[in-house]
This record gives sequence, C-alpha cells and structure tokens, in this order.
Amino acid sequence: MNRITHLLQVQYPIIQGGMIWNSGWELVSAVSNNGGLGLLGSGSMYPDTLKDHILKCKKATHKPFGVNLPLFYPDIEEHIKIIIEEKVPIVFTSAGSPKIYTSFFQKHKIKVVHVVSSLKFALKSEEAGVDAIVAEGFEAGGHNGIDETTTFCLIPNIKKHVSVPLIAAGGIATGAQILAAQVLGAEGVQIGSRFAATIEASSHEKFKQEIIKTKEGDTQLTLKELIPVRLIKNKFYYDVVKAYGNKASKEQLEQLLGRGRAKKGMFEGDIEEGELEVGQSSALIDEILSVKDVFKQLISEYDKAISNAYSL
Ligand code: NDP
Repeated sequence: MNRITHLLQVQYPIIQGGMIWNSGWELVSAVSNNGGLGLLGSGSMYPDTLKDHILKCKKATHKPFGVNLPLFYPDIEEHIKIIIEEKVPIVFTSAGSPKIYTSFFQKHKIKVVHVVSSLKFALKSEEAGVDAIVAEGFEAGGHNGIDETTTFCLIPNIKKHVSVPLIAAGGIATGAQILAAQVLGAEGVQIGSRFAATIEASSHEKFKQEIIKTKEGDTQLTLKELIPVRLIKNKFYYDVVKAYGNKASKEQLEQLLGRGRAKKGMFEGDIEEGELEVGQSSALIDEILSVKDVFKQLISEYDKAISNAYSL
C-alpha cells in the first residue's frame, strides 16, 4: 500500500482518466471493479446525465469511484450539488484554480485531486490543500498545458518541490511505463487513451478503431490560442493547419472549431470532421480490449519490467 492506494482506497494505484465522451458508468465501474479508480468524465454530461451515470455506477460497483470535474464547465454548481448529494467520495478537478472548491469539497468529506501540467500549478495546488496532484505531461491527449513539458521531466521536478502524493499522467499505457513513473517519484498513474480503447468505453467504435490505428507522430498538440488540445491528425486537424497558414485570428479559429467537435468525433464517430482527442501513447495501443484484460496486461508488463530492471 502507498499513499495513493490508501487515499483512494484502491488495490492498484491506477486511475482511469475522466475523458469526455469516453468515461461513462460502464468504463468507470469496470475500472473500479478491477482494482483501479474509475472517473466519470462530467465535462460532456448535462447535470441529469451525470446523476444518471452516478446512480448506474453505484449499482455496478461497491468500490470507490470518482468524478472528473473541469472547473470551467458551464453548469459546475449543478454538478457539485449532485456530487455532494450522491456522496461521491472523490473528485479530480482540472482546468481552473484549486483554491475555489478544494476546502468546500473536503468539508463534505470528499477527497480532492487536482490536475496540473506545471510545477507552478502543483505548488498552488499544494497551497490550496489538495489531497493529491495529477501531473500531466505534454504526451497526454485532450486538453493540455501550453508549455510542452514532458511527463519524464515534469514528474521529478514536481516531486522535488512538492510533498503531497503525486500521480503521473501523459503517455502512460503500459506496465513498464507505470514502473518508470514510480521510479521518477509518482505514487500512482492516470491512464487515458489505453482505457478509451476498451470495450466498455462509451465512445464510438470508429473512434476506438482510430486509436488502435494511430502510429507515432499521428497526434499533435494544437489550438494553443484557444485551449491547447492533443488530437489525431485528421481532416479537421489539417483544416486548422490551413487556417494557421492563412494567419487566422483567434476569432477565426474559434469559428472553425465551432461547438460540439469533440462529441462529433469521439461520440458520434465522425472521424473526419470531429475532434479525436488521444495521447501519444496511442502508438503503443493496437487492440481494443476489455478493462479486465487491460488490467491483466498492465500487471504482467509491470512484473516483467521489474525483473528486467533487476537484470540491469
Ligand atoms: P463545446 O463547447 O464544443 O461543446 C459543448 C459540448 O458539451 C456539447 O457537445 C454538449 O453536448 C456538451 N455539454 C454537456 N453539458 C453541457 C452544458 N451544461 N452546457 C453546454 N454543453 C454541454 O465543448 P467541448 O466539447 O470541447 O468540451 C466540453 C467540456 O469538456 C468542457 O467542459 C471542457 O472543459 C471539457 N473537456 C475536457 C477535456 C480534458 O482533456 N479534460 C478535453 C476536452 C474538453 P450537446 O451537443 O449534447 O449539447
């Protein structure tokens, strides 16, 4: 047991990223039932939908699960009310200041983990009293930090300056990478893309197929003027490249992005026009598996990596 497994009351320090359009109750409860921590991706859920997924999750697992809460979500107060009413034990907050809600949640006996992409925000999170920090590197899919700091550099730097338990994220899809993250100072890992390519993920089958086809160099961090996002280089991505070539203003980029691109790509399966938010680790993923098989694979790779490390 380490501080993360103790804090989250899980068997393995493996957390499934609360990815929008991917992380519904089936994925979340399967991850929790297999000994990790599942997180509902509330960013793409209207309040009634979130409540429905929490209720279904409670029926499907007796293990702890949590909610990922992007802090600039338009109906955030509604989401918070539901989380408290339904006594969800853990929230992972992201994309906003940890000062606003941390102590409020903690007063309601809810553990708070905040997601950061830099040392500066890790220090702010510690000051705000969070229970743990997720440090997410440049390799991660979806919304990301602007500075392009890789997980390999981010984790040891935060570890050096911060004493709250640290969870590494960004680029992790194998057991050997879990071990590497631990060696660098993380006590847990958050994994996104590997869990998006599972049978239980709520995303569209065509999106899952794209993840397993994706090779090294097929994803890119873009749209830094709006919110930096890593996605697969599809037609929409190349439309963005063309817009940059024409020196598009921020307003023109906003217009090009429009509304609901992520839903179009990941939930409705429009692989040309939608946003396909996936991390660099997709190059390591070549099969859609059940959550149970992902855990089996991660654990056997982890054990193998330990014996390889000894032989070195
Ligand atoms: P858009 O503005 O393009 O579209 C909003 C989408 O969210 C729509 O598809 C809409 O569904 C859905 N939605 C759910 N609840 C609401 C609500 N209360 N009001 C309006 N729309 C709602 O945003 P994105 O799709 O890019 O992002 C949606 C959310 O996901 C944001 O909160 C964002 O922070 C988060 N996000 C997080 C990421 C991460 O990496 N953590 C990555 C990307 C987004 P419908 O079409 O059915 O109306």
